Amino acid sequence: MAAVPVPPPPLLASHAAVRAAASAVSRSRRGRLTGDHPPQVAALRRGDWVKLICGASFEDAADVRNLSLVYTLAGVDCIDCAADASVVGAVNEGIDVAASIIPAIQRPWVMVSVNDDCRDLHFRKAEFDPEECPPDCSKPCEKVCPADAISLGHIMVDEHTQSDGKLKGGVLTERCYGCGRCLPVCPYEKIRAVSYVRDPANTSKLLKRNDVDAIEIHTTGKETDTFHALWNSLSESIDNVKLVAVSLPDIGESTIDFMNALYAIMEPHLQGYNLWQLDGRPMSGDIGRGATKETISFSVRMASVSKRPPGFYQLAGGTNSYTIDCLKKADLFQSMTFPGTAISETTISQQALIGGIAYGGYARKIVGRTLHKLPSQFSHARLEDHPDHLLEALQEALSLVGPVKGYPALRSVS
Ligand code: SF4
Ligand code: SF4
Repeated sequence: MAAVPVPPPPLLASHAAVRAAASAVSRSRRGRLTGDHPPQVAALRRGDWVKLICGASFEDAADVRNLSLVYTLAGVDCIDCAADASVVGAVNEGIDVAASIIPAIQRPWVMVSVNDDCRDLHFRKAEFDPEECPPDCSKPCEKVCPADAISLGHIMVDEHTQSDGKLKGGVLTERCYGCGRCLPVCPYEKIRAVSYVRDPANTSKLLKRNDVDAIEIHTTGKETDTFHALWNSLSESIDNVKLVAVSLPDIGESTIDFMNALYAIMEPHLQGYNLWQLDGRPMSGDIGRGATKETISFSVRMASVSKRPPGFYQLAGGTNSYTIDCLKKADLFQSMTFPGTAISETTISQQALIGGIAYGGYARKIVGRTLHKLPSQFSHARLEDHPDHLLEALQEALSLVGPVKGYPALRSVS
């Protein structure tokens, strides 16, 4: 008996506009030369790598899944997420859904983020006991949180007068990514930040999964001992990843020496590629234009130094829609020589001085605007079940990814 053809899943039938937009992205990317390199590395070499940062502490699996779906369709090279098995699963599920819509799509690398000590701001959670809050507090903490991670309501205490009693709710731990904005706004100083370090044993297990491609180690730039200890504890699993990234802040004059010291620690066990994430103003990209200045000045300084350690360099921390123009103004967008350097004085590098840009809070904000438009009963919906919203979210994502990637074919997509 002839096999009965299996119909495509309903989502494929209802996504013509999404497929049109994402197919144009996919075609544009396939036309680029990659040489012998994986496409992600070719992007770093050209200077058009884009990474989505879901958040080192952001663990809302439903949101992570939808973000991963949208930004995979938009053509990012890498998705960076919390080093947690369920979050990694959510990222891969989002990528799988994107691949079900565009079978030829290039899967982004999946990166897990860890820290070498508890002083890195990305690895903390806000916490407070709502029962300690005065019932008449105007709850500025709830309003200032960019992640909708604080939710407060009242417990009714008197059934006759219906008067308001204590507050209930508090911080939704899985959504808090440690930005710290709620801490100073509490007039009663009820909120505290609780820092943590990712367990290296769990990280090692994640690195051995075949759906994890890269690791990012956040370091504060204060000492190398903690980095060394973490690196040693990952030595049996680090060979499994294709890319090792180190995220660090600008620590002034000693930055280059510090980076070279880290590179010396890594080099004996570094099998794949390495990348330096220049973390300007952490977790601030959604604030506005000024937030991107620090990562731009950090990148200008790093690009000008000849003694910088090997590896790719990428911007983060305060990145948003203004970053690409600022990088172009600094003559560093896809540039292989430092601006103003005479060609005769230098050898043209085989790769861009700045490999690309990572977007975090801003990337989440622009897609979050669409997610918020879903009726409340769908707040944790699978975005592919709402094609109009998926298309709108994809267009938002393309407005950020497109200028870096230079997607000319997408100008006509609406
Ligand atoms: S630290 Fe940031 S993300 Fe976490 S609850 Fe406070 S404002 Fe929200
Ligand atoms: S601002 Fe402070 S006191 Fe007021 S609800 Fe928030 S945590 Fe409680």
